[in-house]
Amino acid sequence: MQTKLLSEREIDKAAFLLKNGGVVAIPTETVYGLAANAFDGLAVSKIFCAKGRPMDNPLIVHISDIQEIYQLVAEFPVKAQKLCRKFWPGPLTIILPKSKKIPREVSAGLETVAVRLPSHKLARNLIKKAGIPLAAPSANISGKPSPTTALHVLEDMDGKIDAILDGGTCSVGLESTVITLTTNPPTLLRPGGVTLKQLESEIGEVDLDDAVLKKVDNSKKVISPGMKYKHYAPNAKVIILECSREKFIDYVNHKSSENVAALCYNEDVNFIQVKTFTYGSYKNPELQAKTLFDALREIDKDESVEIVYAICPSKSGIGMAVYNRLVRAAGFEVLYIE
Ligand code: AMP
Ligand code: MG
Repeated sequence: MQTKLLSEREIDKAAFLLKNGGVVAIPTETVYGLAANAFDGLAVSKIFCAKGRPMDNPLIVHISDIQEIYQLVAEFPVKAQKLCRKFWPGPLTIILPKSKKIPREVSAGLETVAVRLPSHKLARNLIKKAGIPLAAPSANISGKPSPTTALHVLEDMDGKIDAILDGGTCSVGLESTVITLTTNPPTLLRPGGVTLKQLESEIGEVDLDDAVLKKVDNSKKVISPGMKYKHYAPNAKVIILECSREKFIDYVNHKSSENVAALCYNEDVNFIQVKTFTYGSYKNPELQAKTLFDALREIDKDESVEIVYAICPSKSGIGMAVYNRLVRAAGFEVLYIE
């Protein structure tokens, strides 16, 4: 299959492909998504094939207007309405009991569905033009860092999908916050651009799922299947160092060798004697979120790198989302240095 690279002006071609059972990578403000008609089980199954995604990992359904949620869910409780009014359009996914129209391929056999209204204008226009909700997980090969540019998608998906709609670089750079309203209190399953504090200020108490910051025991049932998989990992081994910037610099300089690299803040590059990859400023967690996946992909391009020491980000606010992705990229390997 030849994968077409479509520009913004070719949105109608993307809509046509989606209406006719095709798979198209689309830009959103979080990361690029791999989209298909959410009501067409066969089209959705092609997403799993292209990504190599385990069939038990459900997909997020994207809509272009809040009214479209009613055809997807069996209930729309007050807390969910409050969240949607406040944070939509934007990087928040809510999980609710699903309607009968959702095929099992989308919900991976669960009785629930995840829904999001993205703020990216091109994404919303495309959903409107296609006239159908779009099921779309991140447009990367399963396990690899999520794509934040059309070029990243091409690296992973060339020849496997119908088209890529190029909408530039994603502004948030990490996947959406995922909250389930099927527990009481609601549970944050995946941190993202909307923070725990923002959610709590809207609907009161929100639980933090164990899998957000810690490794879950494989035998334990997890609410969000995606959180049990190793994710976002480059080929090199990543080890997080939880310490001050000074200690980090000192530690990696002592490990100096050809196959060692550092994933560090912009400000520290000049003090580090091994190869460096940066993921933004220590003062700017939003920039860290936006840059992290690109940095992980850059590491993959350098075959000489075997071990990467990564400076641990702050875990508060959007920093919690940055840490959640980085700790998975590291397979939960964290060294604490006093
Ligand atoms: P992705 O779209 O690749 O960013 O992954 C979507 C994330 O949302 C994964 O971690 C899924 O496991 C999670 N998810 C999607 N639908 C549900 C659902 N119905 N219940 C729990 N988690 C879900
Ligand atoms: Mg993903």
